[in-house]
Amino acid sequence: MDRTINASRLSERIHMLSEIGKIEETGVNRLALSDTYKTGMDLVRKWMDEAGLTTRYDNFGNLIGRIEGKKKDARRVMIGSHIDSQPYGGRFDGTIGVLGGLEAVQTMIENGIEPDIPIEVISFCDEEGHRFGVGLFGSRGITGQLDPGELERTDKDGITRRQALIDFGADPDQLGASVYDPSAISAYVEMHIEQGPNLEAIDQPVGIVRGIAGPRWMTVELAGESGHAGTVPMEKRRDPLVGASYIIAAFNNIVQSEAGASSVGTVGSLDVFPGGRSIIPERVTFTIDLRDTDLKRRETYEAALKQSIEKVALEHDLTYTLHDDGGTVPKISSDNIVRIMESESESIGLTPPVLMSGAFHDASNMADICDMGMIFVRSKAGISHNPAEYSSDEDIAIGTELLYHTMLRLAKK
Ligand SMILES: [Zn+2]
Repeated sequence: MDRTINASRLSERIHMLSEIGKIEETGVNRLALSDTYKTGMDLVRKWMDEAGLTTRYDNFGNLIGRIEGKKKDARRVMIGSHIDSQPYGGRFDGTIGVLGGLEAVQTMIENGIEPDIPIEVISFCDEEGHRFGVGLFGSRGITGQLDPGELERTDKDGITRRQALIDFGADPDQLGASVYDPSAISAYVEMHIEQGPNLEAIDQPVGIVRGIAGPRWMTVELAGESGHAGTVPMEKRRDPLVGASYIIAAFNNIVQSEAGASSVGTVGSLDVFPGGRSIIPERVTFTIDLRDTDLKRRETYEAALKQSIEKVALEHDLTYTLHDDGGTVPKISSDNIVRIMESESESIGLTPPVLMSGAFHDASNMADICDMGMIFVRSKAGISHNPAEYSSDEDIAIGTELLYHTMLRLAKK
């Protein structure tokens, strides 16, 4: 494959950035708005400045590097991701999208190509959400989707997000000034590690993302009757944990009922009250996380789950409450961007599969206001949010080459 981007510069930058907040040999701890985060963001800003971009921080703590187009007021193309990490995170999650985006723009500048429309590379603040409990802060911020009270959320040391933004140098009282006018953005493209095993399984370096699954969250509470484990006969029991196990098994079957579909369902938390070896439980609470890229199918599965809860409660003489914990609708990539990625892949000798994202990304929020597209880069064993997270320099370079050509097409108007 002919390589236009500077792969060694890109790999050098990824590895230099991973030195900031480095843990163990290969891990990173760069929590949003921390000192290490600021050091990392400043370094990325310096590279953007050197490449010739006009840089600024906004009031959400996002870093933005801009290059003007021939048509100054045209709707811009944005490329980005994030460089904050989980506390025990890896080097590639988010960073390859920011540094790959910068590499694409820098290559364009070095090749003397002037885009028709402005291009912005954005490093979003607090995608991971570990420090203040909710993530995708910067992308929800610029798209006007923050919830009330978000500035008052605190980290484990009692520092509010408001204070952390002030310490970072942002002005949380002027957030409105940093919200984008949706009509000023034509497209957003993000390259990210897959964080899943699919590309590795089919031996492909990169994939084109068709959409981002939307999660549906619920909490199920089942109540029965507590009693002595040695004295209450089996046929007299109203055991909510037995009921819960039938429901969980049924849920697991429901989400697998359509072969080849991208549906996933998880019960990640289960509380048993009062909880003891010799006590029949009185109450059981468990969570539901149901994700799909097809909203219709997700709704069908949700209805089937509710039927199963109803049926099991009846059979085991239990009462139940279902709490609605919300969720989001799936976000679908723009057909136009997928087509561009497919044709550019072909011209550089790639045959990437089109796949779905089960995880959230800043792209999920950007899809609400403009055309969205994503490129996935192969992850070793699908491991992420862990120092063992790994994507090869070669795969990242291939993804960035595709990002570069996609960007050039989008920047032509
Ligand atoms: Zn990420």
